[in-house]
Amino acid sequence: MESQQVPIAGRVRPIFHKDYHCPIVSCDGRKFSKFHQYMRHWRKFHTRTSSVLPCTACVDYSSKTRMELREHLCHHHHFTMFAAKRTADGTTRRTLMNPRYMSPGLHIPPIKEEVYITEEIVGVVEVGDNIPRDMDTDMVEQDGKLVLVVKNQN
Ligand SMILES: [Zn+2]
Ligand SMILES: [Zn+2]
Repeated sequence: MESQQVPIAGRVRPIFHKDYHCPIVSCDGRKFSKFHQYMRHWRKFHTRTSSVLPCTACVDYSSKTRMELREHLCHHHHFTMFAAKRTADGTTRRTLMNPRYMSPGLHIPPIKEEVYITEEIVGVVEVGDNIPRDMDTDMVEQDGKLVLVVKNQN
């Protein structure tokens, strides 16, 4: 038997862009223009379970947030604000299997945009230009030529 496991931490999350195609085969290249639309799609189809707060006063309602449950208790069961808050706060989340789940395989959801966490790039100059000695620099290739990336030192 052969199995392949790839650690999530070792994978690079794709970066969302306009007209992002869902990479999961069963979605047949469906396109998304907004990040939050895609993330809603991801939660709806590519997460195995979801957690909900079931209403204790009726059987057919469950909400995603305590806020929503509170409003439901007030509007549909005529709870007072105080009773609704106490009931909602005391409700335990229940895990539901997603019936529409389509496995994303090895795909992971995209991130909204590229983030630079380690260093802040303050400027790019041609190699040979005068660089202040106290600046931290890195030689990188950009568009086929070598440039120095000047970084902020903290
Ligand atoms: Zn999809
Ligand atoms: Zn209810």
